[in-house]
Amino acid sequence: MILLLGGTAEARELAALLVARGAPVTSSLAGRVAHPRLPAGAVRVGGFGGPAALRRWLAEHGVAAVVDATHPFAERISISAASASRAAGVPLLRLQRPGWTAGRGDRWHWVDDLPAAAAAIPGLGRRVLLTTGRQGLEQFAAVDEAWFLVRCVDPPEAALPVRHELLLDRGPYTLAGEGALLDTRAIDLVVTKDSGGSLTRAKLDAARERGVPVIVVRRPARPEAETVGDVRAALHWALAHS
Ligand code: NAP
Repeated sequence: MILLLGGTAEARELAALLVARGAPVTSSLAGRVAHPRLPAGAVRVGGFGGPAALRRWLAEHGVAAVVDATHPFAERISISAASASRAAGVPLLRLQRPGWTAGRGDRWHWVDDLPAAAAAIPGLGRRVLLTTGRQGLEQFAAVDEAWFLVRCVDPPEAALPVRHELLLDRGPYTLAGEGALLDTRAIDLVVTKDSGGSLTRAKLDAARERGVPVIVVRRPARPEAETVGDVRAALHWALAHS
């Protein structure tokens, strides 16, 4: 059986391709989102309980290979997957979409983490589209200089900035839609993680068209692992290991 650590569009795509080929696959979701888009095939939901518990899970379920297709900012599960698969002697592949790169006309400011993003805001804008997700929003709670349009999938539990509007929404987003959002809220700064991929990149294009600067949070380092950037390559690997 292939264990597919998911929570991303690529993981769902890979699950569908594996199921269509009759390969035994179980997708794993963290259970953070109230109504997740479920992948095809078998699905389990919830944390494993850390690397040692994941290692036991691999042995108990006869896992032949692990594909870590989690989000580029999901640090802990990737550390867990690397450690558990090494200890269990199970091959591991990371499926990670390439990061975004700035093009002509982009006004991007790269920062290392969310606190650095929060610290950079007062110097760059007053009306902020904040799209870094529900986790870590408390880092922005003390930024009084700006008004925030906070967009995330589920209601955040963290403290939010004093002046804000909360927008619960889930991609994919279009260029026209993102442009309208920037215009109607008079957004003059976008804050994002370097998630990569096409589903949420329209905000970057809309910002470029308007000369709006973007704060981009760099990806965290994840443990060394064999890595591919596209679903087809991951499919070949998984079929060869199933
Ligand atoms: P994280 O910090 O790496 O994970 C925290 C804990 O959640 C892990 O230690 C693990 O618990 C559990 N977990 C995470 N992903 C799991 C999975 N696919 N299956 C089973 N357990 C999982 O991850 P996160 O940033 O909270 O993200 C949670 C999930 O949301 C990920 O699967 C990721 O693909 C998805 N996601 C994250 C982001 C983001 O910006 N971080 C964006 C979009 C989607 P145990 O230690 O108990 O095993």
